[in-house]
Amino acid sequence: MRELVVISGKGGTGKTSLTAAFAHLAEKKVLCDLDVDAPDLHLIAEPTIQRSGPFLSGHVAEIDGTACTSCGTCMEVCAYGAIQNVDGRFTVASGHCEGCKVCVAFCPEQAIDFPDRLCGTWYESETRFGPMIHAQLDPGQENSGKLVTLLKAKAREHAQQKGVDLIVSDGAPGIGCPVISSLSQATLVLLVTEPTPSGLHDLERVVDLCRHFRLPSAVLINKADLNQGYQTAIHTFCQSRDIPVVGHLPHDPEVTRAMIRGQAVTEGPETPFGAQVRQIWANLQPLLGAPAHT
Ligand code: SF4
Ligand code: SF4
Repeated sequence: MRELVVISGKGGTGKTSLTAAFAHLAEKKVLCDLDVDAPDLHLIAEPTIQRSGPFLSGHVAEIDGTACTSCGTCMEVCAYGAIQNVDGRFTVASGHCEGCKVCVAFCPEQAIDFPDRLCGTWYESETRFGPMIHAQLDPGQENSGKLVTLLKAKAREHAQQKGVDLIVSDGAPGIGCPVISSLSQATLVLLVTEPTPSGLHDLERVVDLCRHFRLPSAVLINKADLNQGYQTAIHTFCQSRDIPVVGHLPHDPEVTRAMIRGQAVTEGPETPFGAQVRQIWANLQPLLGAPAHT
């Protein structure tokens, strides 16, 4: 199973637009949106949901009012101020509960339960590009790394069932837990950057991350005409780390126009920008272990 994971050190580099274009260009693939904190691949892919399920994670204390004798012990031991006493009735403010389980251990009546909490929803969908696995994390919920791991497992399972040997994933921005989860078992990590001081700085961080996990990576410089000096600096950096630069793309309003149409930049009538993206897709094939003509 081959897995292309498209990431960037920060948001706004065009990562999702490019992932959608690759999803359009790849002949057979499963598409996966791993940017679970702020998913937006669905805006282009327009998925029709086939199956969905709850994402349960973390824990939160829950007091059984019928067993509670209102002794107040839980409120005393909770270091997070998550337990409230309203007229002798003890309840947990779930938004404040850190899941430490101390109250559960100290309750003399065993009146505190500790169930999994509903943190979001995962989806298996169909799109005009093929199957898509995606999710929505509920507002304020954490554990997005765990949700990414769940989505990756579902994408692999789906690909195996359909006899597809490629997964194209839109990863999360940054270098935190969800990105690290999204990198696992990647065949190739495509790092999308732009020639700015923060673009170079963020690129250095994600390159370090890929090296740490010994994952093959390649760089795509988007909005390459923004700053020639930083474009050169990115090339120098990539050369020093032995990372291939698979292409450059100019700053082009066609990206926004395609977004507004709800299309990938390679859909519809051919444009110079679309042609460049097709060339980059072709450049990626040998790195993904596919023949150059696919
Ligand atoms: S420690 Fe148990 S019995 Fe005491 S107030 Fe809390 S939930 Fe109720
Ligand atoms: S699990 Fe920990 S944080 Fe949550 S209510 Fe109990 S003591 Fe407080």
